[in-house]
This record gives sequence, C-alpha cells and structure tokens, in this order.
Amino acid sequence: MKILKLPKNKLDFFASVVQQFGEVHAPVEQNGQFAFQPVRRWSEVRLDYNRTILPPKKYFLPPRETLLQYAGDAGYVPVMEGLDKKIVLFGVHACDVYGLNLLDLVFAGAYRDPYYQARRRNAAIIGIECTPDEHCFCRSMRADFVEQGFDLFLFDIGDYYFTLVGTALGDDMVLATGPLFEPVSHQDVEEYKRRSARKREAFRLHVEIRDLPEIFEMEYSSDIWQGLGERCLSCGSCSMVCPTCYCYEVADEVQLGSREGPRARTWDSCLFATHALVAGGENFRKTRPSRVKFRFYHKQRGFVAEYGRPGCVGCGRCIVACPVKIDVVEVLNQLRSVQNVASR
Ligand code: SF4
Ligand code: SF4
Repeated sequence: MKILKLPKNKLDFFASVVQQFGEVHAPVEQNGQFAFQPVRRWSEVRLDYNRTILPPKKYFLPPRETLLQYAGDAGYVPVMEGLDKKIVLFGVHACDVYGLNLLDLVFAGAYRDPYYQARRRNAAIIGIECTPDEHCFCRSMRADFVEQGFDLFLFDIGDYYFTLVGTALGDDMVLATGPLFEPVSHQDVEEYKRRSARKREAFRLHVEIRDLPEIFEMEYSSDIWQGLGERCLSCGSCSMVCPTCYCYEVADEVQLGSREGPRARTWDSCLFATHALVAGGENFRKTRPSRVKFRFYHKQRGFVAEYGRPGCVGCGRCIVACPVKIDVVEVLNQLRSVQNVASR
C-alpha cells in the first residue's frame, strides 16, 4: 500500500480538488451532534467529530427508497434514477468503514442488491483517524483500524496527515492534486506509531469477544434477556443508528381506485413488535425480551456463524441513542461475568 503525507494547512485545497470525483459529503455539526451532509463551505466541516447520528449506511441503504413503479397488467419498471450519482464521503471513521465492509457481505455477497451495489460503486471513501470517547469500543471489536474499504485514509501526525492510499481511485485523487502529497520520512513513521499507541491507550470501554458466541450459546436462558426486555421500549432507535443493521421492509403503496403505484423499501427493526409478524397473524417474536435477545444473538453469534466476525463495530451509537440506557458493553460484560452465572 502506498503511504504519503498531506500538509494539514492544504486540506481545504485537497477537498476542493476531490470535488471532481463527486459531490463531497462530510460531517457537519447540528445542535451539538454531527451528521454527514453535502459540503457547502469547507469551514463547516468538523473532522474532529466523535460520531454522526446516522452512519454512512444511509447513502447506500437509504431510510426510504422507491425500488420500482408497478402499473397493473403492464408489470413494473425498476426505479434506478440517481444511483449513478458520484459522491465522496470525506472523514469516515474506521469503525464506519468496517461497518460498510460488513454490509457489503450482506448486499454484495451471495444475494446481490443492485441498488446498494450501484451506490457503492459510485462512492469514494476518504477515512480519517478519530479519538475514542466514553462510548467507543471499536478496538475491542477489532474495528479501530481497517485494511480495506477506503480510497484514502488520513491519520493526524501534527502538521501533516499520514495518508494510506487504498485503491487506484485514491491514487487518482492524489495525482489530481499535483505535487501536494509528499513522501513520508522516518520521523513521520515514528510519529504515526507514537500516536497509534496513544490511541490504543485512550479506550475506556473494553469487551472480550474471544469465545463470545459460545458464551451466548450457553446463556440462551439467562435472566438478562428478561430484564432487558422489561426495560426496552421497542422504539428501534438502536437499529436505526447502527452501521450494520440492515433489516428493511418492502411494501406496495396503494391508492384507493388505482392499480399503479410505487414499491418502497424502508428501514425496519427487529425490535419492532411487528417485525416477525407473518400472514395468518403468527408472530415469531411476540415479546420484548425475545426481540432484544434476537438482536444481541444476531450481532454476536449469528453474524459470526455466517461471516466469521461479529456484526458490531463498537461505534457506541446504540448506547447514545437508547432512551432507557441499554448499554451493549454492559450487557456483554454482564453476560460473561462469573458472578452472573453463580447467582442464578
Ligand atoms: S450494535 Fe451498537 S455499538 Fe455495535 S455497531 Fe451497532 S450501534 Fe454500534
Ligand atoms: S434503543 Fe433501547 S429502548 Fe429502543 S429498541 Fe433499542 S434497546 Fe429498546
């Protein structure tokens, strides 16, 4: 992988150059929180953000989209407009790049989703190193560093950004800036390593994921699930903000008297009471404890069985979003604690 450095005081110039690769979107502050938005002025961009309200999945799997238009006996026409729009996501944290890599396994693996894939093909990703806050545990989930899934990745080393070039597109961006990027020196490498070690020490939340799927297997009947179900409001906020939650529902929007209309896909959540409701009125997860348990099992056990790693990147969004303070780190640590097993 090519490694270069970008002078920090030329970042806005670099951002103006990458506009030729697509509409630039970056984190912007809104009432004390952050959101990825189209950049109007570079001065609005906050690369020092902790986390955005919604992860970048919103660009590839929008909260609501029209998949097709149906028209009675005439069949249907897929709606593909806008899928080829080029965008550059500037300032994506490693955990969110990791989240997109996981979504790729779901939407671009055995079952290919043309809408998701087209948007992914047309997006460039420029990652940026972050500083963990009190809700981050991406290091525990092995998502604090990514080896793929970005075109460029920037690490602050003082007056420069140490820059990993991940793809040919990233290389094109570097070339488009002329002589802006410089070779790295031995001192730069030392500074990168020093800051990397400091970041490792900065994590305050820790979860041991070794043998966690097996612990889940053994704790299927734990009282923890009942307790969490009694607190959970089934609001679904944890799923909406999660970079790896991908459940959706598809419904034909029908107007009385008409045989035409759109078929829309909208985000769904396994915490919603109707998520496992099927024709005939059967609901496979009627109770809140069963739904909370399902979400944890899918992320920490089902995902490992299917894709070889948990479906959680430790971004902390669900901890921040949950109105009743259900905390994934507390749950995982409680689940594997010896005390919990002994007290039952
Ligand atoms: S489960 Fe929570 S911490 Fe894990 S990736 Fe989803 S939102 Fe982030
Ligand atoms: S955010 Fe909290 S209360 Fe809402 S569904 Fe998720 S766990 Fe339940």
